[in-house]
Amino acid sequence: MNRIIESNFKEGWVCVEPGVVLDQLNEHLAPNKVFFAPDLSPSNRATLGGMVNTDACGKGSRIYGRTSDHVLELTCVLSNGEVLESVSLEPEALSEYKKKPGISANIFKIVDKVVSEKTDLIQEVFPKMSRFMTGYNLAKVYGNSENNFNLNYLLSGSEGTLAVVSKAKLRLTPLPKHKILLVVKYKTFDDALSDAEMLLKFDPAAIGVLLELIEFQGSVD
Ligand SMILES: Cc1cc2nc3c(=O)[nH]c(=O)nc-3n(C[C@H](O)[C@H](O)[C@H](O)COP(=O)(O)OP(=O)(O)OC[C@H]3O[C@@H](n4cnc5c(N)ncnc54)[C@H](O)[C@@H]3O)c2cc1C
Repeated sequence: MNRIIESNFKEGWVCVEPGVVLDQLNEHLAPNKVFFAPDLSPSNRATLGGMVNTDACGKGSRIYGRTSDHVLELTCVLSNGEVLESVSLEPEALSEYKKKPGISANIFKIVDKVVSEKTDLIQEVFPKMSRFMTGYNLAKVYGNSENNFNLNYLLSGSEGTLAVVSKAKLRLTPLPKHKILLVVKYKTFDDALSDAEMLLKFDPAAIGVLLELIEFQGSVD
């Protein structure tokens, strides 16, 4: 299942099978000056199915967020073979989904009940950080940018425990026009750390620390 099914550059989305690899996707997208933004070190072998199911993110996540922030629709196969289509749902659409036949209806009913009844507890327990967890992200089922019911945040990061993703519609991001790498040398690691807050004011995609771990003096036979 490694096909790129459809791309719509005007509307900014692409539809893929879960076995598509991140580099494969970005090579396909590059001529149109867009990319799939979550950036992983194993990009030449990480599949989109794996990225969705670990809600992976990497360098650039402070600007681009996690994989779940770029998922528009997921098509999933449930334990009984039923196919579930998951998109962001306004209250009226959610009511319709709750009337669906099979176990899909129960999923929408139960998840809505749990996240609505336990809102305060979820708010209290889940840390307010962008890269704090992988797992069942109950906090974002409603607490997303659209404030709609969105099961995709629960499916993302569920490591295949809830359903098998068979298709994903993903949001595309314009490729940055320019990239700059700035190298700053510090005497100690602590000096570098203490500047982190000041460096963040420049809104970098990422800050990396390269440690000179081995200082070698002397000769080798
Ligand atoms: C909890 C966790 C968090 C991670 N977070 C990051 C991160 O933030 N950044 C990073 O660079 N790497 C992260 N990784 C490493 C991550 O595994 C790789 O970055 C990459 O996304 C894996 O790609 P893969 O194709 O090898 O996936 P796999 O290792 O094959 O799959 C990853 C997980 O997704 C499930 N899965 C795969 N395809 C589907 C599917 N179609 N339907 C349902 N479930 C499926 C698998 O069962 C497995 O649980 C994380 C790994 C784990 C276990």
